[in-house]
Amino acid sequence: RSFSGFSLLRHLSPTNSRFASTLVLGEHESGSVKASSLSAIAAAKAISEENSISLLLAGTGPSLQEAASNAASSLPSNSQVLLADSEGLKHPLAETWAELVHMVQQKGSYSHIIAASSSFGKNVLPRAAALLDVSPITDVTEISEPRLFIRPIYAGNALCTVRYTGANPTMLTIRPTSFPVPNIPSSKNSDAAPISQVDLSTFSEAILRKSRYVKHTFQDTERPDLGSAKVVVTGGRGLKSADNFKLIEKLAEKLGAAVGATRAAVDAGFVPNELQVGQTGKIVAPDLYMAFGVSGAIQHLAGMKDSKVIVAVNKDADAPIFQVADYGLVGDLFEVLPELIEKLPEK
Ligand code: FAD
Repeated sequence: RSFSGFSLLRHLSPTNSRFASTLVLGEHESGSVKASSLSAIAAAKAISEENSISLLLAGTGPSLQEAASNAASSLPSNSQVLLADSEGLKHPLAETWAELVHMVQQKGSYSHIIAASSSFGKNVLPRAAALLDVSPITDVTEISEPRLFIRPIYAGNALCTVRYTGANPTMLTIRPTSFPVPNIPSSKNSDAAPISQVDLSTFSEAILRKSRYVKHTFQDTERPDLGSAKVVVTGGRGLKSADNFKLIEKLAEKLGAAVGATRAAVDAGFVPNELQVGQTGKIVAPDLYMAFGVSGAIQHLAGMKDSKVIVAVNKDADAPIFQVADYGLVGDLFEVLPELIEKLPEK
């Protein structure tokens, strides 16, 4: 009702879906944009069909260039790839990235900034939000309107609808499993989005020296990534030892699946903690989730209950996992697993 300049500005502001322009923070590896960042692009498209998307990629060298050209061919034509090419950005350090996002936002005045709820996104986005003096909304699973979002609370036991009423930009982390990855064309198309260089001349040496890369340790495995695998085989405390846990790995191998674990299995030292699924682990939503010797505590269910088909094997018929399972077998996993492994054909 007010005729103040503020109301008029609000009406014309980019929060109106027609004017949405979104900065997506992209992670890349071996010349490709990671699946979780492709989900962030899908989320940007969910804000509005006409949303113009700027995918920010940082780093240096041929891998960055390759990731940029692959991404450009899969983005809508009203979008662009922003390349921050610098030796100082070779490693995705949160402190440096936050300053980069701050600088890019000041030039681009985006209505939204989105990152996936990966370790990277969870590390960078809140820091960038602090620099921009806005409150981020985290772990979004649905975008109802450009400023209206749904996110889980209480370990996924309730869904909360949040309307963002603060100043631009609206900053979000999204749950990759809730925004399916769009198909990427195998070859470059003629409508590929343009690639522009970010002017880093004002990005001072002091910022690049704010934090220092020490090392990156990761499990060298042929198995699919737990966060994006189509099939996940999980073992719980019921496996009883690291040695027995090899049964889970054998089954996963036969199925071309990723291996998951409960926190109890991780705490008992059966497997490293990057395999933990749940509230304080990874959130997964594969086509098939198989749980062996897992009781189904709410903190575990929070990480896997959106899986399309859930199969559970537990010797206790009252185990809560059976409440979410599509197929349940009350039995001893030490009999069921070897039989299953034996009967499945070699991959
Ligand atoms: P248990 O609960 O001990 O269950 C083992 C199951 O194996 C039992 O149901 C038993 O019947 C079955 N079993 C035993 N032997 C056999 C056999 N021979 N054949 C078949 N079945 C058998 N947990 C997570 O998983 N992920 C999280 O992210 C997570 N975050 C947490 C965060 C907080 C703040 C807290 C407080 C807890 C969290 N937990 C998490 C822990 C969670 O509460 C449970 O303790 C944990 O999930 C239990 O793991 P489990 O099912 O392997 O073990």
